[in-house]
Amino acid sequence: LRLVRVEVGQRSETVRRANLSAIIRGLHDAGPMSRSQIVAATGLTRTAIGGLVGELVAAGLVQEAPAVRQGTPGRPSPVVRIVRDGAVVLAIEMLVDSLSVASVGLDGRVIVQERVTRARDERSVEAVVAHIASMAAEVRARTPAPIVGVGVAVAGVVRRRDGLVAMAPNLGWVDEPFGERLAAVLALNVPVTVANDADLGALAEHLRGAGVGVDDLIYVSGEVGVGGGAIVGGRPLDGLAGYGGEIGHLPVNPGGSPCRCGSIGCWETEVGEGALLSLAGLSPDAGRRGIDLVLREAQAGNQVAVAALEHVGRWLAVGLAALVNILNPQLIVLGSMHGRIYPASRHTVEAGLSARALPAPRAVVRIVPATLGADAPLIGAAELALEPILVDPAGFMARPAPVQRLASAS
Ligand SMILES: [Zn+2]
Repeated sequence: LRLVRVEVGQRSETVRRANLSAIIRGLHDAGPMSRSQIVAATGLTRTAIGGLVGELVAAGLVQEAPAVRQGTPGRPSPVVRIVRDGAVVLAIEMLVDSLSVASVGLDGRVIVQERVTRARDERSVEAVVAHIASMAAEVRARTPAPIVGVGVAVAGVVRRRDGLVAMAPNLGWVDEPFGERLAAVLALNVPVTVANDADLGALAEHLRGAGVGVDDLIYVSGEVGVGGGAIVGGRPLDGLAGYGGEIGHLPVNPGGSPCRCGSIGCWETEVGEGALLSLAGLSPDAGRRGIDLVLREAQAGNQVAVAALEHVGRWLAVGLAALVNILNPQLIVLGSMHGRIYPASRHTVEAGLSARALPAPRAVVRIVPATLGADAPLIGAAELALEPILVDPAGFMARPAPVQRLASAS
């Protein structure tokens, strides 16, 4: 729990709202806690906590289980936990090769999920939005609560304010008002927030995956493009409009190959899926099966496959050294393709990073594979949609329920 201090001149209503937020966020992030633990973590009085928890219980956001005596002196303390159905959001993940829609509860756990492989030639925004809407109807029909928010992860450069996709090179989108169109077609009368898939992957690994408890981390995730995100001081690095954290387009090689973004020698052109597969003599579109084949060939001693992995490992270290020098992270989390090839390229990456990064930040950073797998951006999208409720549960409790048509999966 983040300690809430009463500032001089602050109104008691402001303090109450901040404390409700601290309690619900603590339960959301860390799971069930006893009332005594909440008292200890916030520094508030037992009576104050009792009142605040009572409000959250009355709103159906948390519930209290009977007290369990745990061998400590004093009265046993009831256990407070989130009610999963207390606030349910829709999480949507729109990647180049797959589409996933899930309902996710206030505790951050998936209730119902659908995932399909996507045809790469389904590119028009209208077709994508219609596809998402039909999957969303199916998920809603099987979810026993109304939807109070929508979070969307998309493989592109996204303006956070309105969900405009400024650029999605792998979908061929430029300045598409994706968020607005999706909100119109879903017609749920709740906020629809769109963000970059890798930024949300970083958030998910920070809250639920390899980076739990780590407030400074870099997340790198190679799919068709190379995405990434950074958590700095516990907060996602978004920049002014939400375009920040596009580490796949870090310029690393002025003499390199053209990138899909229009530039030359971006990190993605040296460490992306296409680079690894081409160097190994495969089609750049061979996808995950191609990656697995390269790994098997390298294991069997095929020198072309070994060299391809070494190339990617060397360039991975170049970009990571830049990020380590700038951001001084505690952890580098490698997802998707980079997580899968890491065991085979570990030595090259570690040695390259040691050779290039400043010794002081290099000494404190560790590299680990991601733990959430393919669902990381989806879990991050749910967190994005839940964020307004965690920031101001009092505001959420005061709001009337959104008017929604009953879901039909037709
Ligand atoms: Zn680029």
